[in-house]
Formats: sequence, C-alpha cells, structure tokens
Amino acid sequence: IQLANKIAAGEVVERPASVVKELVENAIDAGSTQITVKVTEAGLKYIIVTDNGTGILEEDLPLALSRHATSKIKSNHDLFHIRTLGFRGEALASIAAVSKVTLKTCADGQLGHLLKVDGHTMEKSLTRAKQGTEIIVSDLFYNTPARLKYVKSLHTELGKITDIMNRFAMSHSHIRFTFYADDKVMLQTTGNGRLSEVMSSIYGMKIARDLVEISGTTGDYMVTGLVAKPEHTRANRHYISIFINGRYIRNFMLTKAIMTAYHTLLPIGRYPIGAINIVMDPALVDVNVHPTKQEVRLSKEAELMSLIEQLIKQALLGQSL
Ligand code: ADP
Ligand code: MG
Repeated sequence: IQLANKIAAGEVVERPASVVKELVENAIDAGSTQITVKVTEAGLKYIIVTDNGTGILEEDLPLALSRHATSKIKSNHDLFHIRTLGFRGEALASIAAVSKVTLKTCADGQLGHLLKVDGHTMEKSLTRAKQGTEIIVSDLFYNTPARLKYVKSLHTELGKITDIMNRFAMSHSHIRFTFYADDKVMLQTTGNGRLSEVMSSIYGMKIARDLVEISGTTGDYMVTGLVAKPEHTRANRHYISIFINGRYIRNFMLTKAIMTAYHTLLPIGRYPIGAINIVMDPALVDVNVHPTKQEVRLSKEAELMSLIEQLIKQALLGQSL
C-alpha cells in the first residue's frame, strides 16, 4: 500500500477507537439496522464490525479500499450538503494501510465476496455471506511501530472505544447495537428508538429515571433530547453528548449554553449528564474542518445556543414545580 495511505492513516487512524468509529459510521451510512462490534485487546488484536446494510457491489469493491474513493459524494454541491457520516473516502484505505483487513460483503442477499488485504497483497474470492458487510481488522499498527507507541494502556483505549459506541447508540437509537470487548458484552441496545432506554443501559437505571425531555424548534433548528436532573452530576463535561444530524460533535459554545442553563443548579466543578440531538440543514454546518470531523462550525450559532439554553431551563424548572 502506498506511502500516501500511510500518511493519511496518521490523520484518520490515530488509535483503535478511530477505526471503530470509521467502521461503524460506514455501517450506519449503509442503512444498517443491526450493528455488532467485537474487539479484543482494546482493538489492537482484532476489531470486527458486522452489519446488515446494503453491502458493497462487486464492481465497487476495489474502489472501496482506494484513497478518496467514496460512493457518497458525487459533486461539489454534495460536499456542502452532507447527509452521510462519511464522505472523504479515505477511512478504509487508511485502515488497510496500517493493519490487515478482511472484508466480507453481500449486496444481494445471496452471493458474498471476500477481500483480504495484507500489506501489498490483495486477495479476492467468493464466499457464503449474509446480507451486509463484515470487516475484520487485525494487528492494528503492526507495520507502524511509531504509531503503536502512542497508543495508551489497553484500559484507556477500551474506554475510548466504549465512549464512541455509547455515543453511536445515543445518536442512533433505532439501530440495534451489540458491543463486545474480549467476549464480554459492554453494550446492548434494542433499536426500538427510545433514547431513555439507551441512556439507561449506559448510565444506569437510577439516572434514567431522572431524565427530563427537551424538545423545540426554531426556523433553522430542531432540538430534542434528554438531560438529567441536577442532582446527578459528573466531574467533567464528558457526559454531555451533542449530536448534529446524527453526528457526535464538540462545540464549545453549545456546551457553554448547556452549562448556562444549569448554572446555579450545579455545585462548582460539577457537570450535567445529557444527550442532545440537533437536526438542521446540513448547509448551516461545516463538518469539513478536520478529518476526524468532531469539531464543527455553525452559522447562526447564537440562535441555537439560546434555543438549547431555554429548552433546558424550561425542562428543569418544569420538573421542580
Ligand atoms: P467514506 O465513508 O468516506 O465514503 P470509506 O473509506 O469509509 O469512505 O468507505 C469507502 C466506501 O466503501 C464507502 O463510500 C462505501 O461505498 C463503501 N463501504 C464501506 N463500508 C461499508 C459498509 N459497511 N457497507 C456498505 N458499504 C461500505
Ligand atoms: Mg466512511
């Protein structure tokens, strides 16, 4: 695999959690309703992602693994109206550049195709397969020892994967997620669309009982979500999850709006728990800022901030009456 792929891999594939993120995003983009993720040794040995989505057509297979090959963007216009999670077309190529990849896919419910990529060699064959795609990534960073050195303890890396899986489950409550680490079930959701149930399996029933609903719109934004009553707090802002059009994002100003809403209700140095889904015209959000696509730029940020602040204030006050 070419040098360019290894370089790109440095940006996209920082750690095992980045691989999980990219593979699950692809499974979601493929319209899957069931996604299973299995990791061993915090993903360094194996990451297996299985979905029941569209699969990849045989003629698209070689393209799927080449750089800047995406089936999701066909024009400049598309680039500014992104509705899929992936769009750069470099994730699979980057992952294959720093690991061994086996891809099994079936797009017609009958005939499956198997593709094995190991360093420079690529092997293709026919196989029995179920509808959907299974990707096995093994020996991550085996050929980039420098990158391996930056990987933290297995405990830390597994924690990062778990965070990512929890967030996918919260932003896509209609998908049934199963996540195993070393054969232990870490997360299991039903896919029934109830965010409260997802949050219950992540944060526990005690918190789930004390979630209040927020819901509201302006001309540009639709905001829904669940936030915990102020008696449940955490030591950092990590437990606030914000999603825009199904994508987990980080945005300082939106987090600030949430903190302002809780303001006098929380002890100093404590943070709330919540999941907030924002739906908006993709043209108003710029996700092209960074390859890992978490920081976003928003036009009309102030409008969204005040909507979020008002909704949370109302929800919290309404509850305490
Ligand atoms: P991107 O998601 O940015 O398009 P990727 O490198 O992640 O780029 O994937 C390349 C292409 O491979 C995708 O555009 C898609 O067509 C195909 N693909 C990857 N994973 C899956 C999957 N799980 N199901 C269906 N198609 C997939
Ligand atoms: Mg992708």
